[in-house]
Amino acid sequence: HRNHMKLEVESRSQNEAFARVVVAAFASQLDPTIEEIADIKTAVSEAVTNSIIHGYENSMGVVTLTCTIVDNELEIIVEDQGRGIDDVQQAREPLYTSKPELERSGMGFTVMETFMDEVEVYSELKKGTKIRMVK
Ligand code: ATP
Ligand code: MG
Repeated sequence: HRNHMKLEVESRSQNEAFARVVVAAFASQLDPTIEEIADIKTAVSEAVTNSIIHGYENSMGVVTLTCTIVDNELEIIVEDQGRGIDDVQQAREPLYTSKPELERSGMGFTVMETFMDEVEVYSELKKGTKIRMVK
């Protein structure tokens, strides 16, 4: 079993819900459980929200989602060309947020790690951020 798709959306908040539904629909061909679908939606939602809020800081940009199925595994890549992350290790720590004033809880990466089997973060300042997740 193999399949692939790519989706580009503008960094508007309503596209977070759109992206999450598209990925869930794509994932459904793997006959996932309801719980697995919920996990995937939650992780995608966190990654896309991060690109919108942190990557582009609410200016307009493009968020790219790439999904690949190989055998029974789904790989999801969420990418932005935004500001990038200064310190990826610190960013991944539970409760770390650079925007406490926006009532962020600093749990996005922890949620992704909890609900997905693998989470990799590649980021370069002023170039952007790429999150690769596998379930
Ligand atoms: P929460 O997700 O709980 O609302 P948060 O977004 O601050 O809060 P995380 O999602 O864990 O927490 O992200 C931690 C930090 O990593 C962010 O505060 C931000 O500084 C940085 N970060 C995450 N994603 C990106 C991104 N795409 N571009 C730039 N910085 C990012
Ligand atoms: Mg977040």
